[in-house]
Amino acid sequence: MIQLKNSLQIEKMKIAGRITGEALLLAGEAIKEGVSTKHLDDIIRNYIEKCGAKPTFLGYGGFPGSACISINDQVIHGIPSPEVILREGDIVKIDVGANIGGFIGDSANTFPVGRVSESARKLIETTKESFYRGAEQFKEGNRIGDIGHAIQTYCEDRGFGVIRKYVGHGVGRELHEDPEVPNYGKPGRGPRLVKGMTLAIEPMVSVGSYEVKELRDGWTVVTADGSLTAHYEHSVALTEEGLVYLTRVDETL
Ligand code: MG
Ligand code: MG
Repeated sequence: MIQLKNSLQIEKMKIAGRITGEALLLAGEAIKEGVSTKHLDDIIRNYIEKCGAKPTFLGYGGFPGSACISINDQVIHGIPSPEVILREGDIVKIDVGANIGGFIGDSANTFPVGRVSESARKLIETTKESFYRGAEQFKEGNRIGDIGHAIQTYCEDRGFGVIRKYVGHGVGRELHEDPEVPNYGKPGRGPRLVKGMTLAIEPMVSVGSYEVKELRDGWTVVTADGSLTAHYEHSVALTEEGLVYLTRVDETL
């Protein structure tokens, strides 16, 4: 069942969202060659806890990190490790959640390490722009399928594949609430979009195939063909004033 939020609850989600966005921003600023993914995870955990919040992912289903940090062909759910060291040319996906006041923020971004290939740069840009194309469809009168259709069309027109196995979702008191928000679909299909809905819209996009598989660590999801992937996510709300980005703390993000 879709849990609609009133304006007070959305104000609380803005607090969780801001902490989430700031933690992601801080980790992004620390990205450079030679840094471990565990170091980035520590930055995120320390910041979230300093704010009096809790890292949502820590212990979620047994996940060992505070953030999911996934490199290159890893799509999502990468486990932070002191042994995973960033190299020039890598692209790094960081996915963060923070809980405070009974509500959750959920946001992800993809960062280049130094100079990256032209196709990696184009993938990152396309993924981010596809998010905004999808988010623009989050308005009254539209349906969930309008969001996914906008994302899919934008990515596929540029020759990229949209991951189908993992999808966006409602967010609020729980990390994953109804409805599912696929990054593909048909216009005019699915649940109707109404005020009070809060969603995590999160395109996961691949240079090659959209088929994925899970590694033997039981968490990390990689593309089946080893192609590069990018991820971009914000928590968003539909309010009296229209679309609100709950986890965006910088206009450039
Ligand atoms: Mg996320
Ligand atoms: Mg999410």
